[in-house]
Amino acid sequence: MAKVLAIANQKGGVGKTTTCINLATSLVATKRKVLLIDLDPQGNATSGSGVDKSSLELSIYDVLVGSSELEQALQFSEHGGYPLLPANRDLTAAEVELLKVPNKELRLRDALAPVRDHYDYILIDCPPTLSMLTVNALAAADGVIIPMQCEYYALEGLSDLVNSIQRIAAALNPGLKIEGLLRTMYDPRNGLTNDVSEQLKAHFGDRLYDTVIPRNVRLAEAPSYGMPALAYDKQSRGALAYLALAGELSRRQSRPANA
Ligand code: ADP
Ligand code: MG
Repeated sequence: MAKVLAIANQKGGVGKTTTCINLATSLVATKRKVLLIDLDPQGNATSGSGVDKSSLELSIYDVLVGSSELEQALQFSEHGGYPLLPANRDLTAAEVELLKVPNKELRLRDALAPVRDHYDYILIDCPPTLSMLTVNALAAADGVIIPMQCEYYALEGLSDLVNSIQRIAAALNPGLKIEGLLRTMYDPRNGLTNDVSEQLKAHFGDRLYDTVIPRNVRLAEAPSYGMPALAYDKQSRGALAYLALAGELSRRQSRPANA
C-alpha cells in the first residue's frame, strides 16, 4: 500500500515542486514505485517532468470532476522514470466545479483508492494556497512534507499551515501526520538560517529532516529541460541532496513507530 505524501506550503517559491520532481526521481532511482500527482494549475511539476502541459487530452481536472479514470489520464516522465497525473490551467475551473459535487473534499482520495497498492509512494505537488485543491490533497494523504526556507517570515507562515493541517485532519483525515519539515535553498553561511534552524529543531524535533537541500543552480536549471537534477547533472549537490532525502525517508519508514 502506497504511502501518500502531500508536499505542501501555502507560500509560493519555497521548493514544493522542485522537491516533488527530485524526490520522485530519487525514490525511483532507489527502486521504489512512485506516482507523482500535479495538483497545481500552474502545472510546473508536469512541465518539469518533461510533459507538455499545453497538449494534454486528459489531466487531473478530468479525474477530479469525474470525467476520466485516473489511469487513463497518466503520462510518463521519461527522465524521471515515474508516471505522472498532469495538470494545467484547466484545473482552475475544477476549483469552482468541485463546489457543486458531493464529497468535494474527497475527490482525490477516492480517485487514488484503486491505485494505492500499485505504488510505494504517491507524491502530491500542492498549489501555493489553502484552497479546495489543497484540502483534497490533505484529505488523501497519510503525511505532509513541508518544504521551507529558513527565513524569519517562514516561521510565521508555518504556524498557520500547521493549524490548517490540524483542522483538516480533525474534520476529514484523523490519521494525517506532519511527516517532515524540509529545509530548502539552504545556505549555512547565513546567520539567520542557523537561528531559524535551531528554532525548527526545538519545535519539531525529529520531524525536521536531517537532510538539507542546498541552494544549487542545477536544481533551478533542470526544469527548463524537462528534467530532474539527477538526469540533468547527476553529480550536482542538488541531485545528491535529494538522493539523501530519499534515503532518509526510506529509513524512517522502516523504523518502528515507537523507536
Ligand atoms: P514552489 O513549488 O514552492 O512554488 P519551486 O520548487 O517552483 O517552488 O521553486 C521556486 C523557484 O526556486 C524555482 O525557480 C526553482 O527552480 C528554484 N529552486 C527551488 N529549489 C531550489 C534550490 N534548492 N536551489 C536553487 N533554486 C531552487
Ligand atoms: Mg510549485
